[in-house]
Amino acid sequence: MTKRRPRKPSPNQPISVVTGGAGFLGSHLTDLLIERGHRVIVIDNLITGNVDNIAHLAGHGNFSFIQQDVTEFIFLDLPVDYVWHFASPASPVDYLELPIQTLKVGSLGTHKALGLAKHKGARFLLASTSEVYGDPLVHPQTEHYWGNVNSIGPRGCYDEAKRFAEALTMAYHREHGLDTRIVRIFNTYGPRMRLNDGRVVPAFVSQALKNKPLTVFGDGTQTRSFCYCADLMEGICRLMMSSTNEPVNIGNPAEMNMLEFAREIIRITGAKSKIAFKPLPQDDPRQRQPDITRAKRLLGWTPRVTLAEGLEKTIAYFRGKLCLPRARRTADSRKSHRRPQPPK
Ligand code: UDP
Repeated sequence: MTKRRPRKPSPNQPISVVTGGAGFLGSHLTDLLIERGHRVIVIDNLITGNVDNIAHLAGHGNFSFIQQDVTEFIFLDLPVDYVWHFASPASPVDYLELPIQTLKVGSLGTHKALGLAKHKGARFLLASTSEVYGDPLVHPQTEHYWGNVNSIGPRGCYDEAKRFAEALTMAYHREHGLDTRIVRIFNTYGPRMRLNDGRVVPAFVSQALKNKPLTVFGDGTQTRSFCYCADLMEGICRLMMSSTNEPVNIGNPAEMNMLEFAREIIRITGAKSKIAFKPLPQDDPRQRQPDITRAKRLLGWTPRVTLAEGLEKTIAYFRGKLCLPRARRTADSRKSHRRPQPPK
């Protein structure tokens, strides 16, 4: 994709800047904003993002792409209404490989994105994370919980970058009166995740599709709660359009442990895979589940997509990426995807 200069927007059209817009979440956000009539400028240095995620928007009149590291000064010669700051390596494998870039984009990059929002008088949203709660001692996690983070452990670069980013966002809000939002994103999955990003969904699905053993770390009793990307995007857009400056958890509270999750992937894909237990990475959180009371109350938001529905779309995407033929749906999988019928 070639770099295109932003064209002049039409009057009254909302203008959004999405940092990290070529990534998994940033690209879904960009699609949703374009669908809702925004003019969108994506800024991404492509260290973990991929132009394939936005290639379908090339040539669209409301879209432009700037390849830039957002830790450098961001210059845009057009008005901006919303800045959505999503740029960051986000999978444990990525931020372990790129610890300094992760810390820089969370600190210097957030500073530049906040500076852009302040200069343009734009509203600012920070994509924060459930990792600010670390290995949580409070369960489920509410926004009041301050977290249990090991600053010097391998995950510290991501957790502390995001905690710093939250602190800087609040400082700009308090000191400069910037209208800010903070979303704490819990585990999210869907099409456009990288096959090799190391996260559990692409790892298990690609292993199952190849009939290879599913690598469960530790004894698999650690829990996560998985939200489908479309649900997350709806929650994030509602948050930006709301009036709260407090952090808001967005995630799906349906919690399960990783061994159960591996068995579910084997069942849905019909794979012949076995389970292979591998060592648990250091500081891997034991449990994670969002308390979404605040999102429900302030945004009227709850997740809608079931795990079965979300996984069906995700598995189809990975099948395509792996160049595998489309699956014939089994009677069992058809049953599990059927929507409940209204009573006769
Ligand atoms: N995990 C696993 N096997 C894998 C990859 C991950 O058992 O091949 C586990 C990992 O140890 C963690 C959970 O799955 O407990 C979710 O990991 P992920 O990297 O997706 O994200 P995290 O929630 O840890 O940031």
